[in-house]
Amino acid sequence: MKNTQESPQVGSIRRFYEQAFRLYDKTGRIPPVSIEIYPYSSINHTIRVRGGCAFVRISDICVDMELEGQRALAFILVAKLYRKRAARVHHETYNACLKAPVIQSRVTTAKKIRGRKTPLLPDGDIYDLDEVFEDVNIKYFSNSIRRPNLSWSMRKTFRVLGHHDATQNKIVISRSLDTPETPRFIVEYVMFHEMLHIKHPTITINGRRYNHTSAFRFDEERFPFYRAAEKWIENNVLRLRRAAKKK
Ligand SMILES: [Zn+2]
Repeated sequence: MKNTQESPQVGSIRRFYEQAFRLYDKTGRIPPVSIEIYPYSSINHTIRVRGGCAFVRISDICVDMELEGQRALAFILVAKLYRKRAARVHHETYNACLKAPVIQSRVTTAKKIRGRKTPLLPDGDIYDLDEVFEDVNIKYFSNSIRRPNLSWSMRKTFRVLGHHDATQNKIVISRSLDTPETPRFIVEYVMFHEMLHIKHPTITINGRRYNHTSAFRFDEERFPFYRAAEKWIENNVLRLRRAAKKK
């Protein structure tokens, strides 16, 4: 699912981000920049700074965009990070580059292949599951869990908040939690629970399958906000459902 191949352009692209940071960051600190080409189903790019590093994800649709378009995009994204708007020339250049036939044909192909059926990406409206996974893995698993495929569910489910599928090696978290009303520790808690399923695989005794073994439960209660999380879910999930129904 995830494309980690470095295109030969990545080096140049990284330098554009450094230039843009030099312009917008008044402290003069240029963070190390990681560039990732990401299979978004549309032309969507993101930037965030974490732990002093900048993480840029460029839609794979734009992987072959002309370098001047990449440069313009760098200024647009970095400006956004500083809540500014990049100079108009950058917007114009970027928009012009998007019209290139190579980009347009990729847009068409991406729509056909990915369409609306697979918006199954970790990057939600509020929370990025890649990021949540990473945090939880470091905090509670000494970074020992291998990253499965992560995605938000297609539908907002309220009874099932998370699901681990061992055969497909994936964790799906209910989209109902991807709201500003949901505290981050709740998403972390659900992720934590699903990750415990990786740590404690299902066991079969006399033909009966046990998912939540006592070792699982023991670890689960060690989540520092276990009770608060359980309580929040108990008190709020129905409320989220009512809010969703109104929409
Ligand atoms: Zn479970």
